[in-house]
Amino acid sequence: MADKRDYYEVLGVSKTASQDEIKSAFRKKAKQYHPDLNKDNPEAAEKFKEAQEAYSVLSDDSKRKMYDQYGHAGVGNGPRGAGGYSYQGFDASDFDFGDIFDSIFGGGSGFSGFGFGGGNSSGRSSRSRRGSDVLMRMDLDFNEAVFGCEKKLDLDVVEDCDECDGKGGFGEEKCSTCRGSGTVTSEQHTILGSFLSKSTCPDCGGTGHTFKRKCTYCKGKGKIKKNKTLTISIPAGINTGDRLRVSGKGNPGTNGGENGDLYLEFVVEEHDVFIRQEDDIYVEVPLTLTEAIIGCKKDIPTLYGNVKINIAPGTNSGDKQRIRGKGVDNKYRKSKGDMYVIFKVYTPKKLSRDQKALIEKLAKTELETPEIKEFNQFVKHNS
Ligand SMILES: [Zn+2]
Ligand SMILES: [Zn+2]
Repeated sequence: MADKRDYYEVLGVSKTASQDEIKSAFRKKAKQYHPDLNKDNPEAAEKFKEAQEAYSVLSDDSKRKMYDQYGHAGVGNGPRGAGGYSYQGFDASDFDFGDIFDSIFGGGSGFSGFGFGGGNSSGRSSRSRRGSDVLMRMDLDFNEAVFGCEKKLDLDVVEDCDECDGKGGFGEEKCSTCRGSGTVTSEQHTILGSFLSKSTCPDCGGTGHTFKRKCTYCKGKGKIKKNKTLTISIPAGINTGDRLRVSGKGNPGTNGGENGDLYLEFVVEEHDVFIRQEDDIYVEVPLTLTEAIIGCKKDIPTLYGNVKINIAPGTNSGDKQRIRGKGVDNKYRKSKGDMYVIFKVYTPKKLSRDQKALIEKLAKTELETPEIKEFNQFVKHNS
């Protein structure tokens, strides 16, 4: 702010403007340059500040007189600005705009339609904020997911500094600048009433206390980034898309806010033999022609070792048999699945001379099932 602009020029009013004109001009400027409404325009905060300063002088008759006579010097504002008006340390994000407008214009009167943008306004930087959550993908092989496992995870985690126990320093004492409140308020009297502006205390950064000695290890932040190897216990039964929350291992909070959480989202590899559908496990069992025709006993692989089952005579491809309780014992969902055996009959493509003779002998016998007979009937009628 090398050359300060003329206050009348700032508000866009004439030197003879009435108090009403000045007030209405300031309202217009305040509305136009309100930092909450001009997040993309970094100049807005500066303009807003400029308008405020101009208003604080021109709205005060005695100050205005001094200004008219002596310019900026007359009201204690040299070319370096700020000076007597305690705008120093002003930061758009430190500002509670609601307070200002309420104190100038009184509870929103004349400010209809001027919203403070739901939720994102007047966030003082001293307010503690929880860190954001982090989502991380983790691959598991089939057995790890079904039976649970422990996984090591290398992670940069921001945690309380060990040296200062997360305080940021040693010998805590109440901040003398803000008397422990964390904010400093500067008050200005105008004909419209008092004009309050709150900002974060520059000495304690809003915490309300200072330290005799700052912690050098964390540079006063109280937090430190540590590379940690976490051991994550993954419960039996996890499936693709399931998530597990690891509390406090997400992004760091600000101003003493808690860390966010870490969410692990799993992707489970497929198995060569077992097909998993939720907690049920399917396995395809190949049968020879004769096993299918005359039935047999067979060892079937399950998640818990082999199981011998009886396969009934006359089993077809696609027939299913349930083995109860041999699915996934899901500790994550607290449920339990079954196992399904699905048979598939393989007809040989090559036969020895003896086998061929036997089959030909068999073919001469009546082998038609009701389904085959029905189909043959249909063909006959269709011709
Ligand atoms: Zn302070
Ligand atoms: Zn420290």
